[in-house]
Amino acid sequence: MGTVGAQIAGSGAKEIIDMMNKALADEWLAYYQYWVGALVAKGPMRPNVQEELKEHANDELKHAGMLAERIIQLGGTPIINPAEWTKKSNCGYDEPKDPHVLKLLAQNIKGEQCAINIYNNMLKKIMVEKDPVTFHLIRKILEDEIEHEQDLQDLEEDIKMK
Ligand code: FE
Ligand code: FE
Ligand code: MG
Repeated sequence: MGTVGAQIAGSGAKEIIDMMNKALADEWLAYYQYWVGALVAKGPMRPNVQEELKEHANDELKHAGMLAERIIQLGGTPIINPAEWTKKSNCGYDEPKDPHVLKLLAQNIKGEQCAINIYNNMLKKIMVEKDPVTFHLIRKILEDEIEHEQDLQDLEEDIKMK
């Protein structure tokens, strides 16, 4: 932990760390939901869906890494027990019981929409706490989630046109 680097986040750092740990739980669950979804997917345009789900899984894992590194910079500890993921998560885990591509897409779209709202709300709070580094990081993640939602909805639209 860099002392001055952590200090500039100010008194709100604790709250920011807690928010980021909840988001970290979301990202790990999103990662697994995409990862396992890509493996079980069946139905129209299967290869396209699998490719997109795998790509998003990798992005979510990247997001988890970005959050964890920033949590440490601020003097916090990233969640160290996976049992905490479902307890701390905002958006939860949607078990892909039905492997049909349209069901998987619908579940993951719902997850992205939840993530977009969570990160958007985080930006509003971080603005008040004046932590520009975390703000920038969360904004970058939000941009990715917006792209994810669009990619999935485009796929859904194309599949339904068949
Ligand atoms: Fe993400
Ligand atoms: Fe995403
Ligand atoms: Mg994509």
